Amino acid sequence: MGHKRVCFTCRKAFSLYEYEAKQVNLTCPECGHDTILLNHKIRSPKRDDLKQWHLAKFLVDHGFLFNHACKDDKIVQFPTNIEDAKQFVMITKAFFHYVNSTSKVRVL
Ligand SMILES: [Zn+2]
Repeated sequence: MGHKRVCFTCRKAFSLYEYEAKQVNLTCPECGHDTILLNHKIRSPKRDDLKQWHLAKFLVDHGFLFNHACKDDKIVQFPTNIEDAKQFVMITKAFFHYVNSTSKVRVL
């Protein structure tokens, strides 16, 4: 299991193996801008699919790094268009805010 180093400037993803992820250089090898480390299961859009790259950036900017999430024993599917993504972000953030505000679990 590894990660992908994603450059939103070049709109490219570079696969990394687990051992490499621990010492990863987060600079894009092509343009020199910063990349972001995402779950290896992310399917990067084609370079010219600007809508899907915009969608991925929107989700990443809101803290969704394409890690696995489950709800009711089913894997949560990430939205496939920007309108669904806006609703997904709003609902998910409201859910976590609710859980955090009502949680009786003490984090040590
Ligand atoms: Zn780049």
